[in-house]
Amino acid sequence: MTTESRRRITVAQGDGIGPEIMEATLRILAEAGADLEIERIKVGAQVFDQGITSGIEPKAWDSLRRTKVLLKAPITTPQGGGFKSVNVTIRKTFGLYANIRPCISYSPFIPTQHPGMDLVIVRENEEDLYGGIEHRQTQDVFQTLKLITRPGSERIIRYAFEYARRYHRHKVTSFTKDNIMKLSDGTFHKIFDEVAAEYPEIEAEHWIIDIGTAKLATAPEQFDVLVLPNLYGDILSDVAAEITGSVGLAGSANIGDEIAMFEAIHGSAPPLAGHNIANPSGLLMGAVLMLVHLGLGSVATRVHNAWLCTIEDGIHTPDIYTDGVSTKKVGTDAFADAVIERLGRTPERLLAAHYPASEEPIIVKLKERPIEIKTLEGIDIFLEYRGDVNQLGQQIEAHLNPNLTLVMISNRGQKVYPNGAAETFCVDHWRCRFQARVPGATITTADLIDQLNRLDAAGLPFIKTEGLYAFDGVPGYSLSQGQ
Ligand code: NAD
Repeated sequence: MTTESRRRITVAQGDGIGPEIMEATLRILAEAGADLEIERIKVGAQVFDQGITSGIEPKAWDSLRRTKVLLKAPITTPQGGGFKSVNVTIRKTFGLYANIRPCISYSPFIPTQHPGMDLVIVRENEEDLYGGIEHRQTQDVFQTLKLITRPGSERIIRYAFEYARRYHRHKVTSFTKDNIMKLSDGTFHKIFDEVAAEYPEIEAEHWIIDIGTAKLATAPEQFDVLVLPNLYGDILSDVAAEITGSVGLAGSANIGDEIAMFEAIHGSAPPLAGHNIANPSGLLMGAVLMLVHLGLGSVATRVHNAWLCTIEDGIHTPDIYTDGVSTKKVGTDAFADAVIERLGRTPERLLAAHYPASEEPIIVKLKERPIEIKTLEGIDIFLEYRGDVNQLGQQIEAHLNPNLTLVMISNRGQKVYPNGAAETFCVDHWRCRFQARVPGATITTADLIDQLNRLDAAGLPFIKTEGLYAFDGVPGYSLSQGQ
């Protein structure tokens, strides 16, 4: 998009504080001269209450496909039960794989211990634990599936490096827990190293997530662009936004190849709803990212600079109000009025924004990868069982397929048979690993099915199985602790 003419967008006002901060934001955009044709849709709790389980009214999909841009206020998602997250549904349905979350300090106007902080979190937005694939398997055990894919990881990591290149950022950092999750997080790390090598002008570093988080919380100035798997990115962007002064300050862009969604990073803050005290800045910053995406760079610059002037003048909502620093405590509407009054001004001490009139979207291309030779090496059969593991082991050994052997039994990942430690605490969920009786011999799916039938006949029905495969000879499964 190259000219500043009328743009069509879809708007969802969300739940909780959503309607208040959305109206404040739209008022600022209109006064700034953003020529927007707005289609309003309903998503969230109100739609769910009508019996629509996705939480998205059917005509909303058409609007999104038409405008390809959604400005969305936060939505309430029930905790521990109830309907699925509407945010996750929208992100996944439209392949909004990149979640861009800039977190910047506005010192000395918003007190923070980290005045030099200016980082961008690039969060993978579609996979990891957010598939919501969950099962209760036994009396004791509940499972959520964590899926990390090669294309998903490569896409977000390439996006982060392209983003760094475009915006002249000098470093990209990744955090994972690949000392424990060697296959899933290990793949993310491996692809990070692979892609980083293609951008020699950009510094690349990787930290284990625990120490990385500690560093982010205590020395965020050290970071520039952070690329993270979904869950880590979700958590750390709240941490990063909060240490700039308030979680209410950061906006975010959810980018796909076709469609994009812009929002605040915070939630619907139900206790603040209806009190006209919520900070609309996060959604406004999301809207600024939207204006840039729409090719309305000069309006984005006007809005952003007016907002910076408001912050500089000490006109603050309660979440960022500090005695001696702020000059006036205002509510949502008055904050929006203050931004509108300052349209056309540029900040004196904070770094002024300057967006290009238009810019091309970042499009990433994935590397072609050869198909590796996949060979079947065995099966992990999960059983529900209450009793002594040595008796379980002996019972299984008495019902083995002739081509298979029982390599081990583990409980919550710890090997407990053969030769387990008497001290290991066990629940009712046992992973029994079967591999070829003669090492290297071929085994077939028929052998595995026969093994399942034998266990079933012995009163040990399976609750789940996982195939053990090697790819080009490299095992695609972890060993057990103690194996
Ligand atoms: P929250 O972000 O709504 O609130 C966390 C804290 O930050 C609260 O103290 C709140 O008062 C404060 N806060 C948040 N936004 C603020 C603002 N604009 N101005 C001033 N203070 C602000 O997080 P939560 O309480 O954990 O979640 C509430 C609901 O929001 C949940 O249902 C959650 O699932 C949902 N949520 C939605 C989104 C989204 O729509 N993208 C994101 C996160 C959480």
